[in-house]
Amino acid sequence: MDRTPDLEQKLDVLMSLAADDHEGLPPRLRHTKDVGALRPLNIRTLRSGGMRTSLLRILMTNACSYNCHYCPMRRDRPMPRTLLKPEELVRIFLGAHRRGWCEGLFVTTGIPARPVKVMDDLIQALELLRERHRFGGYIHVKLVAGAEEAQIQRLTSLANRVSLNLEAACGASLAQIAPDKNFSTTVGDLERVRKLVLGERAAQAQGRPRDALHPGGSAGMTMQFVVGATPDTDRTLLDTVAGLQADGGIHHAHFSAFRPISDTPMEGVPATPALREQRLYQAEYLLRDYGFAPDEVVYDSSGNLPLSLDPKSAWALGNPERFPVEVRTASYDKLLRVPGIGPLAARRIVNRRASTVLRGLADLRGLGVVTTRAAGFLTLRGRRLQTTRWTEQLGFWAPEEETGKYHMVYQVSPGTFR
Ligand code: SF4
Repeated sequence: MDRTPDLEQKLDVLMSLAADDHEGLPPRLRHTKDVGALRPLNIRTLRSGGMRTSLLRILMTNACSYNCHYCPMRRDRPMPRTLLKPEELVRIFLGAHRRGWCEGLFVTTGIPARPVKVMDDLIQALELLRERHRFGGYIHVKLVAGAEEAQIQRLTSLANRVSLNLEAACGASLAQIAPDKNFSTTVGDLERVRKLVLGERAAQAQGRPRDALHPGGSAGMTMQFVVGATPDTDRTLLDTVAGLQADGGIHHAHFSAFRPISDTPMEGVPATPALREQRLYQAEYLLRDYGFAPDEVVYDSSGNLPLSLDPKSAWALGNPERFPVEVRTASYDKLLRVPGIGPLAARRIVNRRASTVLRGLADLRGLGVVTTRAAGFLTLRGRRLQTTRWTEQLGFWAPEEETGKYHMVYQVSPGTFR
């Protein structure tokens, strides 16, 4: 019989680690499973570059003194509030880690008091893990904008990755949905972290050994945006992302499609299609990993990415003079522009064709090419690999399947636990 605990059982075991020995869970943690409460723990497996990493995601508190219009944790919304103290957070994480349930930690938080106080608690948790318990694994932490310079330095020094929630593409948009937040403050803090990350990377490049207990944010920052809660178009969002990424130190952006939450000022606003979020991620990959310039991204007349086509296919269809691409001779960069060919497959083609004769679609599939999408854009020894119009073979779903059919209101938003 399989005795491996399921996720729910694991989370129950972990929450019990926050209990005082004699009195059980303290009152501030007794409502974590109530309907409408945001569960403070979650275990997520991430895939990156063929590697899988499981992270214990901890929401230190769902209490917040801010009143963001889209957020279930906003000050004026009645909901059960919970708070993990730094030492409880650490006990829970180490309990999960010892049991082999997670390899790393992601910690985020509401802002129940001043940012400076919350940052002190985050720093205390990370100091306990790094300095007392000598945990040298992966830690990703959300930095609360408005912290003191010394706090930013300390938190970044202890974390592998630091993230900042920008939420909107500019200050005017942010003011519409998050009256307590200040875009310039967040970007200013991002620049401070960036300087530290770049400094750490430069020192390591010059030979300073990597210190697992003080990784200095060297895995790169992330930044988050709520999509569809403001009038920001995809073009505006991606231009902001590209502008911030240009100076380095940022690993990637997160996009969270807006979901209307009950008992918030935005309860009546329609949800943003999940497909829009996906298209933004795809376009950001093009900017980050595929060598696309911001002005090469294709938008519709409203400044948004087409939902019916992925951004790379939209670009390819708009640039027919760049195709077909010959598999035997095209450069890595040209192969990378073909829909269905990613960096790994492009590299494999370039390496393999030097020693092997590629004969057709089956060989390309074996190298990781998504041939249903790529074939119509390729030739092999001068012959087209597919003659039917490639778009007819795509299995894209229609945007209307995702949009506007009914109006759902949520109690929690997947985008807030980030
Ligand atoms: S988005 Fe963050 S700051 Fe705003 S109300 Fe929610 S938890 Fe608080």
